[in-house]
Amino acid sequence: MGFWEGEKCEYCNGAIVEKIADIPRKFKGKYILIKNVPVGVCKECGTRYYAANVLKTIDTSIKRRKAEKEICMAVYSY
Ligand SMILES: [Zn+2]
Repeated sequence: MGFWEGEKCEYCNGAIVEKIADIPRKFKGKYILIKNVPVGVCKECGTRYYAANVLKTIDTSIKRRKAEKEICMAVYSY
């Protein structure tokens, strides 16, 4: 049973399913990508939900570990 089992989307009341995704986080003013994060995704509208403990683990990882690799991000002005 996943963490999101039985949870409902707060916007559309759709079912939330657990998926593994790469998510961007802002850290010290720049965006970094965290890979293989378990997230809850609404089946209907696609809204992503992050469990509090998952976010905490991410923050700890960012502080304790070195990045596996650096990628350049393309930047565009509006
Ligand atoms: Zn939804």
